[in-house]
Amino acid sequence: MTFDYDLFVIGGGSGGVRAARVASGDWGARVGLAEESRMGGTCVIRGCVPKKLMVFASAFPEAIAEARAYGWSVTDGAFDWTVFRTRLEAELDRLEAAYRTTLKTAGVIVHDSRATIVDPHRVRLATGEEFTTRHILVATGGWPFVPDIPGKDLAITSNEIFHLPALPKRALVVGGGYIASEFACILNGLGVAVSQYYRGAQILRGFDDEARGHVANAMQARGIDIHCGTDILRLEQTATGIRAVVTDGTEAEFDLVLYATGRRPNTAGLGLEALGLELGRSGEIPVDAYSQTAVPSVFAVGDVTGRINLTPVAIREGHAFADTVFGAKPTTFDHELVASAVFTQPEMGSVGLSEEAAKAQEPIEIYATSFRPMKTLFAGKQDRVLMKLIVAQASRKVLGCHIVAPEAGEMIQLAAIAIRMGATKEDFDRTCAVHPTMAEELVTMRKPARIA
Ligand code: NDP
Repeated sequence: MTFDYDLFVIGGGSGGVRAARVASGDWGARVGLAEESRMGGTCVIRGCVPKKLMVFASAFPEAIAEARAYGWSVTDGAFDWTVFRTRLEAELDRLEAAYRTTLKTAGVIVHDSRATIVDPHRVRLATGEEFTTRHILVATGGWPFVPDIPGKDLAITSNEIFHLPALPKRALVVGGGYIASEFACILNGLGVAVSQYYRGAQILRGFDDEARGHVANAMQARGIDIHCGTDILRLEQTATGIRAVVTDGTEAEFDLVLYATGRRPNTAGLGLEALGLELGRSGEIPVDAYSQTAVPSVFAVGDVTGRINLTPVAIREGHAFADTVFGAKPTTFDHELVASAVFTQPEMGSVGLSEEAAKAQEPIEIYATSFRPMKTLFAGKQDRVLMKLIVAQASRKVLGCHIVAPEAGEMIQLAAIAIRMGATKEDFDRTCAVHPTMAEELVTMRKPARIA
């Protein structure tokens, strides 16, 4: 049978675009791609990219204060949200155009439409057009989840935060994960009074306890009002704002409520049930190591599969899929030892096991140091950074590295290479320090802080 396409990709985000580009550009497949929203997906349009630009914007007041301590005469100016937002929108337009050019150059046919699956070899666009295809790749990502509480419509999610008409004076951030913690810091840096409510005992669950405690303390020291062990019962509109009624019996009023209580795979209404595909508990598409579903012609990559919800992971999964299916190079992506950074202020970079997870696995040594870094110490600030290595007693391998510091994301990327290569503590020790830096502490910690 001849098909209209060799591959039809549903979703123009990080995973889908990479798979389409490689399948078409590198391997000569005839590829169609449907995207119902803007090209680039969550990362480019409503995630990593605009978020990081907001992180940069929010860091200037601290930089100005430091500049003053270093002898510069500077006066604080006001932050003009509209100026920033206009530039941000222009940058996203530029990036979206770049994505479209990349796809076009690679020979991918883009359909600006929602697509659903009709059968294992057929997709239908919202326009009514139908295409036959040898393979289908679902790369539809995820979508913010907001719990069903009274007044939930008064809250916004990370989807809307980049388009605010004006910055609020008082913001409530609900959740304790990546997005909640990052936006609590961003808004705080931009001069908004921020309260963060999280149902668990400490924000950033899943990360190393000492590292997340360090981040939480630093956030509080910067003025973020973190309430753990509490949740929001309901939201009510008042004449002057949004009232949040809290499980601990208190109430507080805000101008903006941001819910960052996780994301769910975008699988609803795609036609997956009709294919006979059984979805996972959160609606994710189960796939094997080659991103193949139980229907042999249908594959899925990225957040929609609920493996690790990070852009670079989706990109690797998409690339591996294209190499496997169209390049005759069976390739899997190894989901172990994926480093990540939380762009709080200060940042947290992490790779490998937390102290808690490693301890449960085998006997370990913990090397950790917390100190005031040169740059901010000179400016009279109390900020501390944390450098931490988890080492296996038996193999001496470094099982985990956790950094809380300015630019921790940059540092952890490099540490991840060594750890990925199986570096031992002695390999770290043999590596000469780069002085004076914060990261040199990673190769100069000689005595374990504790053994577990
Ligand atoms: P996370 O899973 O990181 O955090 C969700 C938070 O919401 C948790 O604190 C969770 O609490 C809480 N929560 C979940 N359900 C409820 C509920 N019903 N009521 C109250 N609280 C609830 O999700 P995010 O939305 O922050 O981010 C989604 C994913 O996107 C991340 O997991 C990450 O993979 C990715 N991401 C990565 C970034 C980066 O690399 N820097 C930045 C942003 C996102 P509990 O802990 O108790 O479950």
